[in-house]
Amino acid sequence: MTAPILRFAPSPTGLLHIGNARTALLNALVARRAGGTFVLRLDDTDRERSREEFAQAIREDLAWLGIPPDVAVRQSDRIALYDAASETLKAKGLLYPCWETPDELERKRRLQLARGLPPVYDRAALALSENEQARLAQEGRRPHWRFKLDHRTVVWHDLVRGEASVECGSLSDPVLVREDGSYLYTLPSVVDDAELGVTQVVRGEDHVTNTAVQIQIFEALGHAAPDFGHHNLLTTASGEGLSKRLGHLSLKGLREAGLEPLAVAALAVLVGSSDAVRPVASLDELAALVDLGHISRAPARFDEAELSSLNARIVHETPYEAVAERLAAMGIGGGAAFWEAVRGNLETVADAARWWRVVAGPVDPVIEDAAFCEAASAALPDEPWDAGTWKAWTDAVKASTGAKGRALFMPLRKALTGLDHGPELAALLPLIGRERALRRLAGERA
Ligand code: GLU
Repeated sequence: MTAPILRFAPSPTGLLHIGNARTALLNALVARRAGGTFVLRLDDTDRERSREEFAQAIREDLAWLGIPPDVAVRQSDRIALYDAASETLKAKGLLYPCWETPDELERKRRLQLARGLPPVYDRAALALSENEQARLAQEGRRPHWRFKLDHRTVVWHDLVRGEASVECGSLSDPVLVREDGSYLYTLPSVVDDAELGVTQVVRGEDHVTNTAVQIQIFEALGHAAPDFGHHNLLTTASGEGLSKRLGHLSLKGLREAGLEPLAVAALAVLVGSSDAVRPVASLDELAALVDLGHISRAPARFDEAELSSLNARIVHETPYEAVAERLAAMGIGGGAAFWEAVRGNLETVADAARWWRVVAGPVDPVIEDAAFCEAASAALPDEPWDAGTWKAWTDAVKASTGAKGRALFMPLRKALTGLDHGPELAALLPLIGRERALRRLAGERA
């Protein structure tokens, strides 16, 4: 089999949300694990709503997720291809001009509904003579163009849903070209998928009807259709659909909240699949878990608490090398020893700053028993310190004061860190160092 080509095709009309990430990742990971190609196609034929800033944000989001595209195209650069395809369809009588205004269409629709009929376009335009059309054009009207659907049932083997079919007899002929000559996404998508050799299209189940229409257009243009798979959609925790325009759960927002791309990716891919949502160490590991045939049919709810806990679990297992640069950028020192001491206490990587302040200071020590702390100071071993220092020290303090258990450890923790909880002191103590430890035990801000 030749290497697969998959694509993610957002319109640059808003910020990507976690549901878009689901679509992008499913495509990118299926391509990646088979050594295939992942294409980013910007569906920007809607000139009014498309913005360069959103196109840029989409590229950044994909890079952040770890799935930068191998190939990137934008539909606004490819209009000549769509023009050629629409000429082909016109020549075959499959793309026909319609002159109704939106108001007229709305009136027809209401009449049909009032009569208990489905609101399907009645193909009145097909009955217009050349003369009638010329007269409409003279009145200054411009046509939009509809694809003449074959009224049959289109059947395909869906990569997610298995056997799928849509009865096209009950659909309106879709508008492919607007009155101003611009294209809706339907035809350009087919032309691009054919021209770029896309082998699989994985997208949300809101596109099932489009797929039937597009399969007919592939055939009309003489192209083999790719395989299609329609995954369930993500909703908010309260069951609402996610909206790019409303800025729901944007990737940018999640990134700014300090979440790890791997946590966002794991949740986006695994929620509502047969694998439980769980931490992964890499996108390759996640790619191996993608199983299009076992994605649930029910909408999957996105739960922010689940994402936070997944993020924490991933951070707890993140090796130092993977975060070294970010820690340095936050002014955090201590190297691997610091990271390994604190990562188990973090929800996000950025939380490390808080524990770095506990190490480097200043800390306001909490001293409840000055005499005890004095005795502890006296027992502090000389440097160099290592992971065994804590045990040697606390054994000595225990021997000299008789304190043990919580009564031994808690006053030391409070004096050294100003807190009653936190990472293992055995690991923190060597980072705090003797000088700061002595000052804190003496109640000094250090
Ligand atoms: N631009 C379309 C969308 O964002 C693309 C759908 C597709 O994948 O074909 O819904």
